[in-house]
Amino acid sequence: MNEKIISITLFQLLLIVFAAKLLFPTAGHTQAGERYDGPIIDMHLHAHTVASYGPEPIPMCTAEEPVIYLGLDPQIPMTLDRVTAPCANPVWSSATDEELLRETLTTLERHNIVLAVTGGPLDEVTRWHEAAPERIIPAISFLTGRASGAQAGGVEGLRNLFLDGRFELFAEVGAQYEGLAPNDPSLDPFYALAEELDIPVGMHLGEGPPGAAYNLYPNYRAALGRPLLLEDVLIRYPKLRIYVMHAGWPLIEEMMAILYSHPQVYVDIAGENWGHPRKEFHRYLQRLVESGFGQRILFGTDQMVWPGTIEVAIESIQSADFLTTGQKQDIFYNNAARFLRLSDDEIAKHHEM
Ligand SMILES: [Zn+2]
Repeated sequence: MNEKIISITLFQLLLIVFAAKLLFPTAGHTQAGERYDGPIIDMHLHAHTVASYGPEPIPMCTAEEPVIYLGLDPQIPMTLDRVTAPCANPVWSSATDEELLRETLTTLERHNIVLAVTGGPLDEVTRWHEAAPERIIPAISFLTGRASGAQAGGVEGLRNLFLDGRFELFAEVGAQYEGLAPNDPSLDPFYALAEELDIPVGMHLGEGPPGAAYNLYPNYRAALGRPLLLEDVLIRYPKLRIYVMHAGWPLIEEMMAILYSHPQVYVDIAGENWGHPRKEFHRYLQRLVESGFGQRILFGTDQMVWPGTIEVAIESIQSADFLTTGQKQDIFYNNAARFLRLSDDEIAKHHEM
């Protein structure tokens, strides 16, 4: 008799557990540490020429500690060391622009990166877009110093290019590289245009190359990357669709003040996900997620001329054991789909690929 009571109780217990699972599904937020295997959106890819970074091949160290400073010789910008890289496993730049395009597209495909916001000089961007019109979202970079394209007649030129369908986002906007704060009055006509035509803006705030002011970007100042400098702009242009590239690293408290106070702002985590020591990247990401901003973080690679960095960037999220699979899915895809306002059809198609 006792046995019977126990077995009924166990059966009831199982029923309760089953009912609880039905009532409170985990909605994809499964156990931490599982790999995400769905589609990915890269919000921060570049179409640059290999030559704009110096004589190739150029090694790049990833996730290294201590921080590695670039060569300070202005004649060989971005070259770490022409013979040996100061790290054990560098990734190497592509040999030619053709290879760069091909290797990047192959890597995007292999990792199910279904869309990539691709910024750079417009000629390069157009070439990339024509090579993979489904995958490459053309964006225009400006105010990024040496990697800038022509500004094509200022704001009116940008308006015409946008209306001609030549680009879909302003990204990357690198005012900091030119010694301008994001709230510099000279940028007002451009913000007004972005708001008027509903063009999303990817604003660089935070890290440039280490030691940048002594080499590639003499006007670069860390102080101009302060996220709070964006606040006036957000108030003046409340309909602006804007994401802060690099999440304003390392000024996380200012970044969180902006995210908390201005719900329209998103951030990307590109560059630091392969360029910074991994522990620091994870700390930064974990702080953002655990402060409640996990649905405003966009995945990006900041791939320039090193296609190998894409895999390092993806792995930095996959290996983050503080993230659930659902949080990885938000970062890799859902948040960007929302920011870019993808249609249900587009989203469904990406999940079939
Ligand atoms: Zn940047």
